[in-house]
Amino acid sequence: MTPTLYLVIPCYNEEQVLPVTSKLFLEKIMGLISSGKIADTSRVCFVNDGSRDKTWEIITGLCKEDDHFAGISLAHNRGHQNALICGLMEVSSKCDITISMDCDGQDDINAIDAMVDEYLNGSEIVFGVRSDRSTDTWFKRTTAQSYYKFLKFMGVDIIPDHADYRLMSSRALKALAGYKEVNVFLRGIIPQIGFKTSMVYYSRAERMAGSTHYPLRKMLALALDGITSFSIKPLRMITTLGGIIAFLSFVGIIYIIIGAIIGNTAEGWASMTILLCFLSGVQMISLGIIGEYIGKIYMETKGRPRYYVDESVNLPEDKE
Ligand code: UDP
Ligand code: MG
Repeated sequence: MTPTLYLVIPCYNEEQVLPVTSKLFLEKIMGLISSGKIADTSRVCFVNDGSRDKTWEIITGLCKEDDHFAGISLAHNRGHQNALICGLMEVSSKCDITISMDCDGQDDINAIDAMVDEYLNGSEIVFGVRSDRSTDTWFKRTTAQSYYKFLKFMGVDIIPDHADYRLMSSRALKALAGYKEVNVFLRGIIPQIGFKTSMVYYSRAERMAGSTHYPLRKMLALALDGITSFSIKPLRMITTLGGIIAFLSFVGIIYIIIGAIIGNTAEGWASMTILLCFLSGVQMISLGIIGEYIGKIYMETKGRPRYYVDESVNLPEDKE
């Protein structure tokens, strides 16, 4: 049986780029349908992440024009990762495969063919991996590369140069549904799911219109989430650091006692002050790191829903 494919595309304030890219998405889906690789029930499903501009109006307009478009609108802006989870979960029982991608045309649409081929060859998850970063600024390129190295060092299993452009089968999505955490970092979770996986390489283009929603502040937050959601190594490092400092302090104390016995105690103001400053700095950083984890526990124990769907258009009933 030919599989039903849903493209899941989160959109936040994308009125400038949607009219351009939606045509390309539809063309791609129709091409795959006519070549017999996917079923006619396949859809391009946009997830409106509480946009403030005309994004939802554009999506509903598209859905009226063509049944191959579908839309889900969230009640509030919940951020890219949550919008993506929402789209995947809402469509998982309506199709056999999903491909998640950005709506700005940066993820090369032509890689979809290779992803579907990989699925037809038995892969349950296919990762879209960037073959080059030449379109990135020097700053983004270097920070991204150092981040991947750092994550690896922290013991987080992540695929370098893979963002959220990936194919997942409905079986893999069922497994994903079991991850109930509120702080989602899909790039970290999905490699843990397992199943047969493969990779497809593509080169990432510039945004076709509009501007990025990931300023440095949000990028840093996502980067930090990536570490603290998957690794407790920072906590262990604090313990090690504490051990080393305790040892050094012990040596220092012996030195001071000997100094006092010999009788030259008037000196030492400088070293005292340096030690004081150094130790309070270390303590503040350690508290901050611990606080970061407590914050995570706090958010997780509340178990608040990740999203609310306000309305959806053109989504059929669940299969079976
Ligand atoms: N996005 C979203 N909710 C947000 C921010 C972004 O759904 O709060 C979507 C956005 O519309 C786009 C994708 O996430 O489809 C990636 O965002 P963007 O292109 O701004 O990030 P960049 O590619 O610059 O990292
Ligand atoms: Mg983008």
